[in-house]
Amino acid sequence: MHNKITAIAIIFCLMHFTQLLLAQKTPQSQNLDQIFAEYEIELSNNPSAVVKKLLAAPVNDNQHELAAQYHYTLSYAYLNLVYPQKSLTAANQALSLLQNQQPAWLYNRILITKSQAMELNGQANEALPLAKQALSWAESQNNETSDQQKMIIDALIALGYIENTLGNSVAALEALMRAYNMAPQTDAVNTKSAIASSIALVYEYRRENKLAIPYFEEAVQYHRRTENLLELSIALYGLGRANKNLGLHELGKNQLLESLEISRTIDDDQGIAYALKELAPLYMQAEELDEAESMLNEAANLFNQSNNKFMLFDLHKTLSQLYLAKNDSNNAQLNLKLAKQHLNPKRMPIQAISLEELESQVNAAQGLYKEAFTQLISTVGRKQRILSEQSTQQLHELRTQFELEAQAKENSLLSQENAEQKLRLLNEEQQNNKLMLAIIATASLVVILIATELHNRKQQRRLYQLANYDQLTGLPNRTYTLQKLKANHHKLKPEQFIYIVMLDLDYFKQINDRLGHDVGDQVLNQIGQLCRQHIVQPHIAGRFGGEEFLLAFFDSSVEEVTTIIETLRQHASNINKLIKTDNNTACPPISFSAGLSSCQSNKAISDCIKNADLAMYQAKNAGRNQTMVPES
Ligand code: GH3
Ligand code: MG
Ligand code: MG
Repeated sequence: MHNKITAIAIIFCLMHFTQLLLAQKTPQSQNLDQIFAEYEIELSNNPSAVVKKLLAAPVNDNQHELAAQYHYTLSYAYLNLVYPQKSLTAANQALSLLQNQQPAWLYNRILITKSQAMELNGQANEALPLAKQALSWAESQNNETSDQQKMIIDALIALGYIENTLGNSVAALEALMRAYNMAPQTDAVNTKSAIASSIALVYEYRRENKLAIPYFEEAVQYHRRTENLLELSIALYGLGRANKNLGLHELGKNQLLESLEISRTIDDDQGIAYALKELAPLYMQAEELDEAESMLNEAANLFNQSNNKFMLFDLHKTLSQLYLAKNDSNNAQLNLKLAKQHLNPKRMPIQAISLEELESQVNAAQGLYKEAFTQLISTVGRKQRILSEQSTQQLHELRTQFELEAQAKENSLLSQENAEQKLRLLNEEQQNNKLMLAIIATASLVVILIATELHNRKQQRRLYQLANYDQLTGLPNRTYTLQKLKANHHKLKPEQFIYIVMLDLDYFKQINDRLGHDVGDQVLNQIGQLCRQHIVQPHIAGRFGGEEFLLAFFDSSVEEVTTIIETLRQHASNINKLIKTDNNTACPPISFSAGLSSCQSNKAISDCIKNADLAMYQAKNAGRNQTMVPES
């Protein structure tokens, strides 16, 4: 009898256990395993703690789904810490562990995170289809569970960010407002109040600080209530900035200080740096220069760690201004140099001008008035093109005034040369110098106003885009292409190799010469589009120089590469039909010469590029419009 009861009990236990197992596998379950679900909640509060825990306890990749959840959580945590490259790597790792893109809910969830990481990484164009794919998958599921709703909301938020980064603020607001309206009032991660923060960011991006503030306030209240520290610090940062921009300095300062304190509590280095960067100018205004100096230096140190070039540029520029105010022209000069190192003048023309103006200020501080003035004048023309007429008007008037005075000074120098006159001239010169400093100050103010527009903790993602992508072709620029190539080359196993193709348009100069530069630009733009259409991940296509493109193919074969190149060639020969010319002059068919090289892990990447270049020149010499594949 006793045995029988034990047997029944065992059977019951087994059944229960099997049920539990089945329950975990049921397709309805769309949630992470308990441990990762807990991390996911903790993550919005303290992502760096989650990263530490995850890295301390890795999951074996043989346990595919569990390992995918692990890498997904890691990716999500890095995303929250604004480490896009790490987030992207983890997301890709997670995706690669899922067989046949199953389970679909997890696959699509990872896609959403990946799209956000890509956007942060300056690849908003490529991120857009991922977010859309996940959104339409979530919408196509007709069960109305809260998981489903949550997924739609998540996808809409990602989409909102990406659209905003792409400059489509209307589409961004549409997506975010949809998410806002769908979101529950309480109980979930993405409630209305949490989404408010994102909407506020779009308004802020559109320079509509007044419209942004109520949303930021809603978000602050909500995150304060739920004690979600990371989001609270971000919302406070946004609110503080918006208030500061509206001239409510004291209020803004207190909110930024609170954001700073919270970022320190949760070890959010980048959050600390952003808050410090925003706060320092307020201290400068209040003439608390030592405090501002230490804030700026701490922020520069932190941005150095994340290699945030744009912020580094800005910080060193501000430091240079600070040292000017402290009459320390040596340090002003030093920081000016550091700022220059982080500036790509082609990509950031406004910032380049602001730096030149600062340089003239530094020169003036060092007594080099003539250099200062010449430099300032040389920037004025360019600036007038870039800045709105309204903001340069004042500068222009001041400049004219200065030139008139300078002329008067010169005339009088010529006519009377006695001691008394000289004394008077000296006096005039001093006045001129003052006037010139006023010109410089006005000019800098305008530029600073415009530059601050770009300094948003989340919106700086857009700057990654500007820094890494070529605007004409939409392709990664030379630096970024090389960076991507090197990163991939680094990861190669001994038996793997990369195919590198150098592609150069034929007789392109003639197109410019005969049909104009604008037609040349249209051709480059079309070639860029073709490359983006036909050379998709994991392969890379970048604009390497004027009419030169570098393509890189991974896990591929010579046959596959040449097939893709020939497809490109075919399409390129037809783009002339799409080109608009003056007087309807026909644009000739476009052709290119290409050279291929293969690159193993033990070869230097620069040699491989050189080999592809050599092969390309062989193709040119052999009559152009062909691909040269050297015998290996
Ligand atoms: P080849 O077949 O030997 O390559 O002849 P090519 O004319 O293509 O080569 P060349 O190097 O003589 O000329 C390249 C031209 O590309 C010169 C330059 O004006 C033009 N170019 C470079 N960048 C741009 C750009 O951004 N826009 C336009 N429209 N033209 C550009
Ligand atoms: Mg060329
Ligand atoms: Mg050429």
